Amino acid sequence: MVPKTHPRYKSLLNREKVVEAFDKGILAKAGLTAHGRGESFDYLIGEKTTTEALHSIKVASAVLLLAENPVISINGNTIALSKHDIVELSEELNGKIEVNLFYRTKEREENIKKAFEEDKEIYNKIKNKKIKLLGLDPATTNKQIKNLDSLRGKVSEEGIYSADVVLVPLEDGDRTEALVNMGKTVICIDLNPLSRTARKSTITIVDELTRCIPLLTKYVKEYKQKDKKELENIVKNYDNNQNLKSILNYISNRLKNMEI
Ligand code: ATP
Repeated sequence: MVPKTHPRYKSLLNREKVVEAFDKGILAKAGLTAHGRGESFDYLIGEKTTTEALHSIKVASAVLLLAENPVISINGNTIALSKHDIVELSEELNGKIEVNLFYRTKEREENIKKAFEEDKEIYNKIKNKKIKLLGLDPATTNKQIKNLDSLRGKVSEEGIYSADVVLVPLEDGDRTEALVNMGKTVICIDLNPLSRTARKSTITIVDELTRCIPLLTKYVKEYKQKDKKELENIVKNYDNNQNLKSILNYISNRLKNMEI
């Protein structure tokens, strides 16, 4: 148990969550190292949502509202850290969440299903069709993303396969590229501005997942008051490469001016 007074409370709590998810068979071993890579980049940006990230979050919120069939793709790390926040965000959209695993095994699928359904509130939301948990039933997860090996490329027709916008927190570069090649708008959340995912996505949010998802939900709720034209204006002049360059400049200036 991490004491609340610990200066690194939030970070240590997140570590505990990923370790717990690993023990429950939700997260693969590689998910632990991916988390560590994220933590190190969070140090570099100062463990806060930057102005650049907030800009991407606002644009992503407008894009999600303009979408016809937005889908939130989740993996073990996302479930470990943000299960409830993801459910809340999806309820503000069309309720579609799709489990998409790098290391897909029957056992992990079962453990993930259990992790959602053992929460009574989430279970009721699934039962009442407020949210749809896709990607776990082999009968409907039978479409294939081109240029990915068969297990990693399995998606559902109703979800990722037919989505026009996919939010992929913590995705890997190959799959991001494959989704973009299918003509989809891909929004990623990745603390590493140098990753292939960050560079290949349509909109990259360089922020920590547990800080970012509640902000996305906040802006999605707020922007529901806006009409289509206003939303399009928010999206219009966004330049993802420029945003990534600004973040790299921010990190570099921060390091240069840091007092040790
Ligand atoms: P790529 O294939 O895109 O070049 P990669 O090999 O690093 O990148 P993964 O191993 O799948 O891809 O790692 C997932 C990414 O998620 C890492 O870049 C890491 O920085 C990021 N990440 C890990 N934890 C978090 C978090 N909590 N919030 C945001 N990003 C995170």
